[in-house]
Amino acid sequence: MSSSNGLPIEVWEKILSHLYPSQLSRMSMVDKNLSEIVSSLKVWPRMFHAAHGSKAQLRPLMCIPRVENSYMIFMCASSLHVCEKCFGLTRYNAHQLYRLPLPIPVLLPRRSTDAIKYVGDRFDPNWTIRMCLPCRQGHISDFEEPIPLHVENIWVNWNTLIAKHPCLPHISHFSEFRGVRRGNQMIEESVVFKIMQQQFGGDIGIKAFEESTESWDKKTETRIRWYQLQE
Ligand SMILES: [Zn+2]
Repeated sequence: MSSSNGLPIEVWEKILSHLYPSQLSRMSMVDKNLSEIVSSLKVWPRMFHAAHGSKAQLRPLMCIPRVENSYMIFMCASSLHVCEKCFGLTRYNAHQLYRLPLPIPVLLPRRSTDAIKYVGDRFDPNWTIRMCLPCRQGHISDFEEPIPLHVENIWVNWNTLIAKHPCLPHISHFSEFRGVRRGNQMIEESVVFKIMQQQFGGDIGIKAFEESTESWDKKTETRIRWYQLQE
């Protein structure tokens, strides 16, 4: 079997082995041949067993019948809970949304010498993969996120900080700020923001802290419904 451009399957497999699962699923939409090659890659059962256990059996998703090579479909539909880097499964926890795998910008594996790409305040979604909290924290230490303009060179007191950042009382360094909390001392917001970025796994984790679980449920439902339509 070869794809429409005539490359043998072994070559495609080698090329595709450099991509993360969400990048692979995008590749699978290029054409039917490529879709077959991508869906038969060993990465999908590997990801499935890493996330759900070595003895887990592939089971149909809500209303999605069992089909051959459906490891890919299963992993794509449940990817809101699976980390693309460590393949770990994060259980749903209504009170800790930031612990779920969230999209974070990554450098493409090959020929990507450019800095991480931002579109205004948002990440370019084409350059993101979904990572669990520990993987995001590791990634943030290697590729620091810039401090957003709205907190740069801003000095505020503790009460203002807490009002602006609801996740702040939940950082583990919180006790370090005891002195600041008692007085009306001014503190540089960017310093605190950096700690928050590290703790919650980037700006997206900070935002997720405030996101309601209701909207997350809807996103998951929509996603599963979307995959149903592809069947
Ligand atoms: Zn992970």
